[in-house]
Amino acid sequence: MVSISIIGTGYVGLVTGTCLSEFGLNIICMDTDAQKICDLEQGKVPIYEPGLSALLIKNVSFGRLRFTTDIASAVAASQVIFLAVPTPPGEDGSADLRHVLAAADSIAQHMADYKVIVNKSTVPIGTGRKVKEIVRAGLERRGLSLDFDVVSNPEFLREGSGIRDFMHPDRILIGTDNEKSRAIIRDIYNVLYLIDTPFIFTSIETAELVKYASNAFLATKIAFINEIAGLCDAVKADVRDIAKAMGMDGRIGKFFLHPGPGFGGSCLPKDTKALVNIGQEHGVRMSIVDSVVKANDFQRRRMVNKIETSLTDLKGKVIAVLGLAFKQGTDDVRDSSSIPIVLELIEKGSRVKVFDPQAMENAKKLPFADIASVESGRYNDVVQDDFAAGPFKIMYCADEYDAANGADAVVILTEWNQFRHLDLARVARSMRGKRFFDFRNIYEPADVSKFGFDYESIGRPRP
Ligand code: NAD
Repeated sequence: MVSISIIGTGYVGLVTGTCLSEFGLNIICMDTDAQKICDLEQGKVPIYEPGLSALLIKNVSFGRLRFTTDIASAVAASQVIFLAVPTPPGEDGSADLRHVLAAADSIAQHMADYKVIVNKSTVPIGTGRKVKEIVRAGLERRGLSLDFDVVSNPEFLREGSGIRDFMHPDRILIGTDNEKSRAIIRDIYNVLYLIDTPFIFTSIETAELVKYASNAFLATKIAFINEIAGLCDAVKADVRDIAKAMGMDGRIGKFFLHPGPGFGGSCLPKDTKALVNIGQEHGVRMSIVDSVVKANDFQRRRMVNKIETSLTDLKGKVIAVLGLAFKQGTDDVRDSSSIPIVLELIEKGSRVKVFDPQAMENAKKLPFADIASVESGRYNDVVQDDFAAGPFKIMYCADEYDAANGADAVVILTEWNQFRHLDLARVARSMRGKRFFDFRNIYEPADVSKFGFDYESIGRPRP
């Protein structure tokens, strides 16, 4: 049986490793983050991904899934090595390949026989070739000339439904330049092949570009419907009906036509920017994708404008923000629209009470780390007016009702199920004001306004 290592044990690497072990394969998940590996060894999953924890514990108990920080042993023990390391945006929006190239170099330092290096990270076109050069150069430094192959196998899973997406993908895309590595990787996915999952075999470059093209297209659909929703607001049309009628057209399709506060997450924002940058590098103007990037920034600002217009002035206002994750089902706040929206509300003089069922710790760690903040429990004995005028700009709340308590406005930014069934009478009673901004369109306008709220959503006529 082929032995497999995954380098990078984050959202993609951990889901990939766990699911491949569920296919019956022996997997080593390697990461440079010692704390993460230590947690995983104790069965603690460092990310929130529905179903992941149970599947991981099961496969660890069968001995098919192991964790390590030791790249040398991971490389030595595997014929196939998946790269699932981050490719964050650099200053100019281009994908930062530092982690991919460092991992490739580590493989070269430790390999002693034939390997297939499979890139699952989202990388610019030509990265497969670069990885080859780095490995070849590393081997040369060691005076070795070993055979190896590089494969592009982009990942299309969505956070929040990662396990399902991995187990039932729309397609498996394998970019190679030779038959040997193609057959090895196809065999790894044999379980999916047997359930008639479509397999697409391409060149390495084509596979790399498919991933960017797919994400840019999804981002375009979202940006498009957000723009139509803006027009709906102006002409009193209903974007729900428009999206429904559009989506029934088989050429358009109904998915990704839900307006919201702008797309976020670790993929669409960075991948659209990277694709614009890749175009620039090759002298090709990516005007559509460039417009999508700008339209998404504008959509986030438009949400703040809506709140500001309604409240006249944001100075001294207390805003309850429900949802920090970029979408429901994940604790990931990377490039979530909630973050710039909260920051702009603060910039304009508001104080923000925030709650998210999963993403609070991640928000505290990074995007809000430098902002004066307080836990709501420590503020219990202080009246809300003091928060509005006090030194703290963010209050981390215990739940959605705690957040709404004393607020001038409630703003829903993530479509968590528990925000879909709020006790609106209780929310109304506890608030200082009556503004309700549903930027995920999860409520029927009349159902909210009957509690005395001044309700606004995106692209739907006000009741
Ligand atoms: P992540 O940040 O969640 O995880 C990456 C992990 O790699 C981290 O644990 C980090 O410690 C580790 N790492 C970094 N450098 C390393 C090295 N040299 N050796 C070993 N470990 C190293 O990232 P992610 O969200 O899983 O994304 C990984 C890649 O997959 C990115 O290119 C991303 O664009 C792509 N992708 C992500 C998703 C998604 O939904 N998150 C979906 C499809 C594709």
